[in-house]
Amino acid sequence: MVDLIIRSGHILDGTGSPAWKGDIAVDEGKIVEVKDSIDMHAEYELNADGKYICPGFIDIHTHSDFSLLANRCAESSVRQGITTLVTGNCGHGPAPSPDRGLGKQITFGYSENFNTDFGWDHFAEYLDDLFSPGLSVNVAPLVPHGSIRLAVMGYDARPPTRAELEKMKDYVDEAMSAGAAGFSTGLEYSPGKHADENELSALCSVAANHDGIYASHIRDRADTFMESVVESLNIIRRAGCTGQLSHLAPRPYARGEFDQVLETIYKARDQEGLEIGIDTFPDVWGPGPVVTLLPPWVYEDKPDKILDRLKSPDVIDQCRETFNNPTNYLLRLGGFKSFYLTCSRSYPDLVGRNFQEISEIFGLDHTETIFKLLLAD
Ligand SMILES: [Zn+2]
Repeated sequence: MVDLIIRSGHILDGTGSPAWKGDIAVDEGKIVEVKDSIDMHAEYELNADGKYICPGFIDIHTHSDFSLLANRCAESSVRQGITTLVTGNCGHGPAPSPDRGLGKQITFGYSENFNTDFGWDHFAEYLDDLFSPGLSVNVAPLVPHGSIRLAVMGYDARPPTRAELEKMKDYVDEAMSAGAAGFSTGLEYSPGKHADENELSALCSVAANHDGIYASHIRDRADTFMESVVESLNIIRRAGCTGQLSHLAPRPYARGEFDQVLETIYKARDQEGLEIGIDTFPDVWGPGPVVTLLPPWVYEDKPDKILDRLKSPDVIDQCRETFNNPTNYLLRLGGFKSFYLTCSRSYPDLVGRNFQEISEIFGLDHTETIFKLLLAD
């Protein structure tokens, strides 16, 4: 008698062999037998006829760092067959977070609506909060560069001093010792974009000393796509670690050099023996915070300062100029009508509308519309 038998499924065992029809027996949380037909009884039996049985998928690119604390069952992953999540991607994540206001800003998916405590300074404390009460999935957390840089330098757009670099290295070392699987960067975002190759190589080397990987949301995937890939390859080379180039799809407005980009990566992999993985998006839509439609100088600060700016008519005027001559990559993606409101505490009725429609409903121009949405929430 075992705990569970899954019968008559098409078994894909993860070795690359073709599927074959058989049974799987599980006892005390472990697979104890896999064969054509198992002649045993189980406490619980599942008929998987006409279905596939395979090892759980690994989702190498998630931003579930915070949402896992609010929903430990992680059903949106489990129901897709995902049993391991890599978190802390794109240089964003909730720890280290000695300044809670800044920590929340750099955590994708943070919401006060979750009613979940954000109560840690260090990465080890965050991991303890994450793992101690139990989770339905395995998690491989990356330590995010952006969170570390914010903790040490705020949004300063300059190289770190020697002391600051040492402090950032200590944060990486501490996180890796606590169980991080690697180091991530988001070089298209603040504050990641203020870091140069030397800073990133130094920090990545600390992760490499712990056998950690380096996952990068690279600096740009349009006008300077090739340079951005070369920079990430250099960091991987200098640190001597395994690299993962995240969501490596060209922006819709990129020059047609994607083939050369891939060729450069394959060359580094095949001729130099660098270990590099690539992942990409399964869809054309992506989520993002409304505030990133604005120029970075508006939101690169502590929450109270940002609020002051959002209330200032002068700031609205300055931002309007940006939108009249848009350089923001989000705007280059297709203009206001291609942005949809997916979440708003103050205007739940407008969720599902695009920004063009919302600006018509408000009777305001695009810039005023963005300010109104942000300020209200
Ligand atoms: Zn990213």
